[in-house]
Amino acid sequence: MAYTEDRSTWFEGQGLWQHVPESDWKDWVWQLKNRITTIDQLEKYMVLTTEERRGIAFAGSKLALAITPYFFNLIDRNDPNCPIRLQLIPREGESITSQEEMLDSLGEDEHSPVPGLVHRYPDRVLFLVTDRCASYCRYCTRSRLVSNAQDYNFHPEYEQGLRYIESHPEIRDVLLSGGDPLLLSDKKLEHLISRLRAIKHVEFIRIGSRIPVFLPQRITPALCEIFKKYGPIWMSIHVNHPKEATAELKDACERLSFAGVPLGNQSVLLRGVNDDAEVMKALVHRLLRMRVRPYYLYQMDLITGGSHFKVDVRKGIEIIQALRGHTTGYAVPQYVIDAPGGGGKVPVNPEYVEKITDEEIVFHNYEGRQFRYPLKSTPVAAAGEPIRVNAKAGAAVAHDDVAGACDI
Ligand SMILES: *Cc1c(COP(=O)(O)O)cnc(C)c1O
Ligand code: SF4
Repeated sequence: MAYTEDRSTWFEGQGLWQHVPESDWKDWVWQLKNRITTIDQLEKYMVLTTEERRGIAFAGSKLALAITPYFFNLIDRNDPNCPIRLQLIPREGESITSQEEMLDSLGEDEHSPVPGLVHRYPDRVLFLVTDRCASYCRYCTRSRLVSNAQDYNFHPEYEQGLRYIESHPEIRDVLLSGGDPLLLSDKKLEHLISRLRAIKHVEFIRIGSRIPVFLPQRITPALCEIFKKYGPIWMSIHVNHPKEATAELKDACERLSFAGVPLGNQSVLLRGVNDDAEVMKALVHRLLRMRVRPYYLYQMDLITGGSHFKVDVRKGIEIIQALRGHTTGYAVPQYVIDAPGGGGKVPVNPEYVEKITDEEIVFHNYEGRQFRYPLKSTPVAAAGEPIRVNAKAGAAVAHDDVAGACDI
């Protein structure tokens, strides 16, 4: 069925938790304390499928089950294929490991000079500052350490990490991630951010977080003050489906944005969730309306027990093709594969270029119409003669709609 949505509405309200005082509902600590973490709690609210029951039985040894009441409201409890449900409720497929899958599919542990710090690219580091999240995504790349269901016993060494960054002047960009950095207390976060800000060679500080999506209540005025004080702090949030774009998330993005935090979004391409051009288009449009610029669309990493989420790369390319040119350029994320074993993010793009020779480049546009852009200049006037426009060549260029470098 084609995806349809009411563009004028944003989900809001307390849903199943009408009986709870608004002050509790809006309190992020209340949301965390009241997370759904067991099969009994789930069954209080919904009828699980056999596949889900089997998945939940297995989940304990892989990645904890946890869903904030706020986010649980977004699940369509009558639809086993609800895209929110698929992301959060374990399914039997999680227990099936395929040959190509790996526990540490990006080779992060090998590139870790200090526990919690991944230094893969020359000028930037990934700083994993906690192993906890507000809710757990069943396709999580770091399920080996996140939630500690696999007894990884992750202990980030803040002091060691900070000293490593201090002593490596080539590091100009620090990405705080985890787990979810915004689960740290304001005090801990401010300590980390202020220490990073004090390092002269660190120019760019950013946070990767799904907290605005799972727990928008965490984006408090006090937290925003910290971002203001040490800004610019950039943030990548993680929204996969337009249903996740609620009134609460929109407000949280507004608070962040008003505190001077530029917002990007990272989505993971997931079977049954967002492997559809119409769904993706609805998502990126919602993101722009929330002041969030789509940044990356990830091909899912080769995590253990992830095959039931896997989407063919050709489908991903097709989705990008359905966006590029057909909608606002700002709305189009970069589709990437994080190279298995640890080669970094590599763009995967639809092909528009047909041929490049010394004379010209031949390409087609979003509608499939072919164009040529000459690479050689052919003077039409000898030196000293007045310049006359070659009507034919001029027209050809104008007709081809060649955009200038400054695309205004
Ligand atoms: C994704 C990632 C980064 C950041 O990459 P950008 O393309 O700059 O967003 C940095 N380090 C590691 C290890 C990463 O996985
Ligand atoms: S929020 Fe991120 S780190 Fe946490 S479970 Fe989801 S994908 Fe993993």
